[in-house]
Amino acid sequence: MTLGHGDGGTRGAGYNADCIFCRIAAGELPADVVASDERFVAFSDVHPVAPVHVLIVPRAHVVSLDETDGLPDDTRAAMLPFVAAVARKTGVARSGYRVIANTGPDSGQEVMHLHWHLLGGRRLGGMA
Ligand code: AMP
Repeated sequence: MTLGHGDGGTRGAGYNADCIFCRIAAGELPADVVASDERFVAFSDVHPVAPVHVLIVPRAHVVSLDETDGLPDDTRAAMLPFVAAVARKTGVARSGYRVIANTGPDSGQEVMHLHWHLLGGRRLGGMA
């Protein structure tokens, strides 16, 4: 997979002007974009908890993993390959990484636009 870099913007399906990740994906809010293609944007988390802490979002607005029925089949199919490609691009594929999608209240999800946290660059310790 070839990833673009930092092109910012197109508004995805279901674009919501009140959603910060919709606005980042559209290039309307600044972000440190590390990879993008026509379906997804990956950008650095503003409060990193690891040397590599990237958020990966679909351009289309869905709230969480619980709503991926609202995404086109090709976007669902491309999601995890894109995450893996970002891991390679950010240099953590060999050293290892963790992928998290906080989903719903018990997870502490704060931003209501589906996103994957890609964490790596140090030993991440326990939990899962
Ligand atoms: P979650 O708890 O899974 O919803 O995580 C949301 C994440 O988004 C947090 O780790 C925040 O630090 C991050 N975040 C919030 N606003 C921004 C932003 N404008 N740019 C980059 N990361 C952000």
